[in-house]
Amino acid sequence: MLNLIIFGPPGAGKGTQSERLLQQYSLQHISTGDLLRAERAAGTDLGNQANEYIAKGELVPDAVVIGMVKNFMLAHTEAKGFIFDGFPRTTPQAEALDAMLADFNTQISIVLGLEVNEDELVKRLLLRGQSSGRADDQDESTIRNRFQEYQNKTLPLQGFYQSQGKYQGVQGIGEVGAIYDSLCAEIDKVLG
Ligand code: UDP
Ligand code: MG
Repeated sequence: MLNLIIFGPPGAGKGTQSERLLQQYSLQHISTGDLLRAERAAGTDLGNQANEYIAKGELVPDAVVIGMVKNFMLAHTEAKGFIFDGFPRTTPQAEALDAMLADFNTQISIVLGLEVNEDELVKRLLLRGQSSGRADDQDESTIRNRFQEYQNKTLPLQGFYQSQGKYQGVQGIGEVGAIYDSLCAEIDKVLG
């Protein structure tokens, strides 16, 4: 299996690049943000609980997100591989993911980190907020809180995956197609 993590701060382009990569490599896309928004739209208990965190720009508790990913993977046992987009976001989530993949007799192939500076990210998120209707993209203080959460809880995963020899940073500013080409070049090195 080819299992990719698209890593990076809010607004780095994880969703955009994932859409292209999953077609190229025939992978299943797991965006935990999209799954949480679908739960919210369906009005489930999980969705309503998650919304309290999303609205504040805080992370949804590990057990909730891990359970959702586990269910998704069990529903897609035929997959050739997965793209994890916006997950894992904490060290316990990364450890749980390693364990889940081990149960599938597989592992993470590579972690691709999209590198974008904070000024550019804020601009992109506010712009996305104008068309996406996402409330958490329209309020600058919520956006700043998401960056805080990223710095404190998610960025340490860079070291977690570096110590496994799996982290590869990629410049995330520039033309979408050029960034995509850099990502593919890194994946193709792993595929050999
Ligand atoms: N979220 C979370 N855990 C996840 C995915 C999403 O807690 O695994 C919540 C969190 O509140 C986050 C929001 O959902 O700020 C939006 O996440 P998404 O990944 O869609 O946004 P992005 O960070 O890519 O802009
Ligand atoms: Mg996203």
